[in-house]
Amino acid sequence: MINEELWQAVLAQIQLNISQANFSTWFKNTEITSQKGGKVTVLVPNSFAKEWLENKYNKNILKVLHDMDGNIKDVDYSVGKTKLAIFKKEPEILEETNQLDFQELKVNKDTNLNPKYTFDSFVVGPFNELPHAASIAVSQKPGLVYNPLFIYGGVGLGKTHLLQAIGNEISKTLKKKKIVYISSEKFASEVVSAIRNHTMEAFKEKYRAMDVLILDDIQFLAGKEKTQEEFFHVFNVLYENNKQIILSSDRPPKAINSLAERLRSRFEGGMIADVSSPDIETRMAILKTKAQEKNADFPDEVYQYIAFSIQKNIRELEGALNRLIVHQKISNQKVDLELTKTLFKSLLSSPNRVITPKKIVQCVVEFYDLKERDLLTSSRKKEIVKPRQIAMYLLREELKSSFPFIGRKFNGKDHTTAIHSYKKICRCVQTDKRLEEEIELIKERIHTS
Ligand code: ADP
Ligand code: MG
Repeated sequence: MINEELWQAVLAQIQLNISQANFSTWFKNTEITSQKGGKVTVLVPNSFAKEWLENKYNKNILKVLHDMDGNIKDVDYSVGKTKLAIFKKEPEILEETNQLDFQELKVNKDTNLNPKYTFDSFVVGPFNELPHAASIAVSQKPGLVYNPLFIYGGVGLGKTHLLQAIGNEISKTLKKKKIVYISSEKFASEVVSAIRNHTMEAFKEKYRAMDVLILDDIQFLAGKEKTQEEFFHVFNVLYENNKQIILSSDRPPKAINSLAERLRSRFEGGMIADVSSPDIETRMAILKTKAQEKNADFPDEVYQYIAFSIQKNIRELEGALNRLIVHQKISNQKVDLELTKTLFKSLLSSPNRVITPKKIVQCVVEFYDLKERDLLTSSRKKEIVKPRQIAMYLLREELKSSFPFIGRKFNGKDHTTAIHSYKKICRCVQTDKRLEEEIELIKERIHTS
């Protein structure tokens, strides 16, 4: 059989066995380029597809090939431009840029700082000018200008980015300074375990030794009296020694319920700056900056469309862009305005579209070709553990489900398992580009199916 016919026949078979979504993700733009000595070479559009075909579908493909032609004993995959793709306009990102993109994205174990958050990569507009200026000032003279610096604003508007950028800048220019970044949830859980393990002294010592203490999302301290008390002591020691304290919250100090009055007045004694929602120009600038960082490029009208459609949350803006980048890379298809509209149609037209836990689980199950009951039971097989952790992660990310809820959903697991899974995936996506792409693809399905 000639290559083209053979491959068409193989695809027709495979299509019967896997879901349509998986079929079009992994088998689009593939073809057989040669058959030699019982070995068939399949051309695939990118190394992502290569890996998936090798690891996941190879057995299936080989079996179908062998059934069609008994001489065929082996198959391999090579990355290249397929004929089909040649007819299309040349996409701009074909090459693997993973290594380059993510080479320095390791979170520092001592400081918890992620080097990707810098002032350089932070776009300034009227909505964040003040907190940005204050952050720069603090990074130049920690402990001496605004203390504490308190930044507040809605979700996904760059608070963590700014806080981390201050930390990164200080660790670059004032190398001797001891810096630590910590979320308030983590801080609270450290307090709890210090009490439980009788290690309170060590806990206090660790934080009192800091030159710069960055505490993110302090609204989570609401109602946690013991944590607030410990924080108050640390705060005072640092403050009196001119050490810098930087805080963020989703609301101003006076709006944080059950925050001890003495803490509130401490917070109000420094600089309070808020981030509001970005204007359209800044949204465009952010999209272009992020695209450039990822070596991607889209027509202006694509950026405009996204910037007009997503107005309130920079994280979502970035998520939308990532989805386009992944789509372009995997389909090897240039993303234009029309395609963008199609990709985002269900996502944008109905902001209250129904995403349910069931749907998330289904999408994960389908993506990894598993059975729902595998995912929901306790199998500890590697092929199942990872998708299960991803499902838990997505329940948290997409639905803000509580950890006890997530635990229950997965065969009555403990909430600590859910927390562990969530954190693990959060950590891994920082450094594992593949995983990030897989998750984007799953999200795309969750939002469009
Ligand atoms: P918050 O902590 O306020 O919820 P983040 O700091 O986590 O928000 O920001 C969400 C995402 O948006 C991050 O990836 C961050 O890098 C990006 N981001 C936010 N503001 C900006 C900005 N002004 N310029 C560039 N990227 C930004
Ligand atoms: Mg944050």
